[in-house]
Amino acid sequence: MSLFHETPAQHELRRAAAELFGRYGLEYYVEKAHAGEDTTEVWAEAGKAGLLGVSIPTEYGGSGAGIYELHIVTEESAAAGVPLLFLPVSAAICATVLTMAGSAEQRRRWLPGFADGSARMTFAISDPASGSNLHRIAATAHRDGGDWVLSGRKVLVSAVDLCDAMIVVARARDAATGRLRPVLFIVDPAAPGVSYRRTPMVFLSATGQFSVTFDNVRLRPEAMVGGEDGGLRALFAAALNPERIAFAAWTTGLGRHAIDRAVRYANGRRVWETTIGAHQGLAHPLAAAKVDLELARMCVQKAAWLYDHGQDTSGELANMAKYASAEAAFRAVNQAVQVFGGHGMTEECGVGVLYGMVRVAHLAPVSREMLLNFVAQHSLGLEKSY
Ligand SMILES: Cc1cc2nc3c(=O)[nH]c(=O)nc-3n(C[C@H](O)[C@H](O)[C@H](O)COP(=O)(O)OP(=O)(O)OC[C@H]3O[C@@H](n4cnc5c(N)ncnc54)[C@H](O)[C@@H]3O)c2cc1C
Repeated sequence: MSLFHETPAQHELRRAAAELFGRYGLEYYVEKAHAGEDTTEVWAEAGKAGLLGVSIPTEYGGSGAGIYELHIVTEESAAAGVPLLFLPVSAAICATVLTMAGSAEQRRRWLPGFADGSARMTFAISDPASGSNLHRIAATAHRDGGDWVLSGRKVLVSAVDLCDAMIVVARARDAATGRLRPVLFIVDPAAPGVSYRRTPMVFLSATGQFSVTFDNVRLRPEAMVGGEDGGLRALFAAALNPERIAFAAWTTGLGRHAIDRAVRYANGRRVWETTIGAHQGLAHPLAAAKVDLELARMCVQKAAWLYDHGQDTSGELANMAKYASAEAAFRAVNQAVQVFGGHGMTEECGVGVLYGMVRVAHLAPVSREMLLNFVAQHSLGLEKSY
């Protein structure tokens, strides 16, 4: 494809994803979230339909397309009202790390399951002490005989209760220099020494966040991803950007969902002679939100296209897309709520419930400020403050 025209195959992927996720919709998602239940059945169906393996190499059962295609699936899931967090987390970051840096055995073990929907992973990097400063990660691993022993804590990790494994970022002591440096391990949440507890969150979501404790968890050497050198390099060189792009697509999808609902309502509701959509006080901010959202979508599409063509190695566009999508989607949801008036804050209208999700987009997996720091330093060449 060229950057501005999706191919017939990409159109068809969009259509198929919109159709599948649209059969479930936001009402289904909200019901599951209230019941404390997951949306595993959607995941399984999407896996069977080939939607989850679009960026997985064909030799592992995927369709070998790219992050552009993954962004299409992710955006359409959220636009249909079924914002599946496992798409940015499992399909984008974990699958990319394993594709780039996993051993042959790790790739054989996990990638086919990612492609058909039978396996999901989460990614655990956030340490209580380190926050955005990854140099301060306190979870450590030391060698004991041939094994590794992992200790420490992670916070706000998504979907630990639902995943088959998590990729944990810890620091290990370099045998030659004695310095601690980050490494990645695949850890089974049911392994001896792993415990986790759900963190009550203030937004509606069918995917929970957890604090996880690793108490002398014994790991075979095969659990390490990319050896002592390669895992982190793959993470920074190749996997964080797909996660940002997929998360940005998740976010613009939510914005689209809000605007679609607001337009339907604005075209039907009459308080005076005309529909409320005729009042420019409502129409113009909604139109402006639509423009912002389209600009953000173009940025996400460009970031995905550049990534697939090896042309955004610094992640500049991925960071910009992540920032732009959160700004635009928050504005879209906010204006959609205004269109509904007081009803905007009811669950039934289906836009107020999106507030928390689009607010999260300013915070995770990387905060708005860290994205702006990146642009200030790398795009503008300004001095670093920290
Ligand atoms: C819904 C949700 C799901 C999540 N899922 C996961 C997950 O699956 N796995 C995982 O590991 N983590 C997950 N997280 C955690 C998330 O990645 C972190 O919250 C995020 O990276 C920010 O880190 P922090 O919360 O520690 O904030 P801190 O780093 O403590 O920052 C606090 C504030 O200070 C600002 N700040 C910090 N440093 C600077 C600076 N140099 N310049 C300007 N401002 C700065 C930040 O932007 C932020 O506003 C999730 C979080 C949420 C809310």
